[in-house]
Amino acid sequence: MWEIRTFSTRESLSQFLNDLGQDKCIGVVPTMGALHPGHISLVERAEEDCDIVVVSIFVNPKQFNNPTDLERYPRTLEADLDMLKGHNVVVYNPSVDDVYGSDHVDIDLELGSMGEVMEGKYRPGHFDGVVNVIYRLFEIVKPQNAYFGLKDFQQVAVVQFLTNTMNLPVEIVACPTHRERNGLAMSSRNKLLSEKGKNEASVIFKALTFAKESAANGISMNTIKADVKRMFDDSSLTLEYFEIVDPSTLKSLDDLSGKAQACVAAFCEDVRLIDNLELK
Ligand code: AMP
Repeated sequence: MWEIRTFSTRESLSQFLNDLGQDKCIGVVPTMGALHPGHISLVERAEEDCDIVVVSIFVNPKQFNNPTDLERYPRTLEADLDMLKGHNVVVYNPSVDDVYGSDHVDIDLELGSMGEVMEGKYRPGHFDGVVNVIYRLFEIVKPQNAYFGLKDFQQVAVVQFLTNTMNLPVEIVACPTHRERNGLAMSSRNKLLSEKGKNEASVIFKALTFAKESAANGISMNTIKADVKRMFDDSSLTLEYFEIVDPSTLKSLDDLSGKAQACVAAFCEDVRLIDNLELK
């Protein structure tokens, strides 16, 4: 029977990758597990581009600013390995100590305003944790390509900033968001929602598509923001933020004359969900 090779230490993974030879294209798909078809779409894209794909499954404590969130984050390794069956991947499923051993020193990357808005504002320290784990994974795996989902729009921008600023020889490949039939962006956190919650959470994508249609119809930004806020007020979700930003700088826009990305964070049944959509 086909068994996926799983490595739990960086030494054993590095040894395996070194033995493949220098001419192989290595892709990495960093994940925190509880895999769903959104993750698999990244894996499939990586398989198309690369000779070998490393899927990391690591719930990175450094990127959680809320201990309860870290504690209840779903961990489903057996099911994850089942989902990866038939894919040309190896899995890196390390302990916290393996990733951040005693020799580890955090990098201190100044993210500027990019790290202070939206997720950076509401989850202080989150992106420092993301930057550190990604930098570490790149050190361990030495990939040519790394695959990230646009569902985490700000994360893609931050990781691209990391590679540009530190001149890392890794191509960042941004992949489209996979959604449930009702529009809800697939997320490991959806596993924490009841069926009712999953239905109600569809208001997030409804609000984003409403904002996109409104922008296309020339409705002003303030009106769009007020209408979206009302949609959330009328739902069982609690809106944390709805921002319309410049997709390259992530700065809030004053008007809709240029490119614009709408980004949302909202709570449904105490589960924090994020999503985004290109408006223009
Ligand atoms: P996570 O396990 O949540 O850290 O996600 C691992 C990677 O999968 C990140 O690059 C995410 O942006 C990406 N991802 C998560 N959900 C989706 C989705 N619904 N569609 C596409 N990519 C996703």
